[in-house]
Amino acid sequence: MNGYLSDFEAKKAIIEVGKRMYDKGFVAANDGNISCKVSQSIIWTTPTGVSKGFMTPDMLVKMSLDGKVLMGKSKPSSEVKMHIRVYEENPDIMAVTHAHPPVGTSFAIAGISLDQAILPEAVVNLGSVPIAHYATPGSQEVPNSIAPYCKSHNAVLLANHGALTWGKNIFEAYYRLESLEYYATVLMYTGKIIGRANELSCEQVDELVKIREMLGVSAGGVPRCSMEATNLGNVRDNEKDMLIDDLTNRITRQILDSIRGGN
Ligand SMILES: [Zn+2]
Repeated sequence: MNGYLSDFEAKKAIIEVGKRMYDKGFVAANDGNISCKVSQSIIWTTPTGVSKGFMTPDMLVKMSLDGKVLMGKSKPSSEVKMHIRVYEENPDIMAVTHAHPPVGTSFAIAGISLDQAILPEAVVNLGSVPIAHYATPGSQEVPNSIAPYCKSHNAVLLANHGALTWGKNIFEAYYRLESLEYYATVLMYTGKIIGRANELSCEQVDELVKIREMLGVSAGGVPRCSMEATNLGNVRDNEKDMLIDDLTNRITRQILDSIRGGN
């Protein structure tokens, strides 16, 4: 066993991941691309101009990391350049996925990286997600923008564009895409809709990073954490007082209004 999928297995896995990506709403129309290594220097990847939800094995393209198409009648996506760059920068990586999941992409557009320590699972399996500077999709500038993160992280947001994730196998890469979108969604709810998130303390994050290392995940960065030990789940006393004050004021106002209103 050399750890590589066979051609048949790689194509089957790419089609399955494409379908899940499409069903989850991570890609619209023909967006997104997926690749998977079958040897040190050869990958299977998705073609240009095809919906990832409806791919068949004959559409996929086999190519070498120096950019030569070895098999398949379609052209690879112009974005395959960034996949190749991930493999070049980090030879341990076996698969790469790229999509435009709406919440993660919105963070990429707002220029806000996903680096708040709020979910233990996200710290362990995904890590923090930095933003690579904007580059025209398909241009050589895109691979250059992601290169600094390929060894130190597991995923990156592409400014005003989308998300890129990688892993030791195709499902790890894809699950990181799911985790990224879930993490971004929770950050959106707590940040802008609920308006509050209790961050994990730095001590709690250290513990999670140790677990991550024990699981063999060496990359992922360390998210922003709270310096003080927080008592997660508890409303702070002064906030409780504020809530009670607010409630008392509202009730008093209602009573006064009803008295002033007469009958
Ligand atoms: Zn894209």
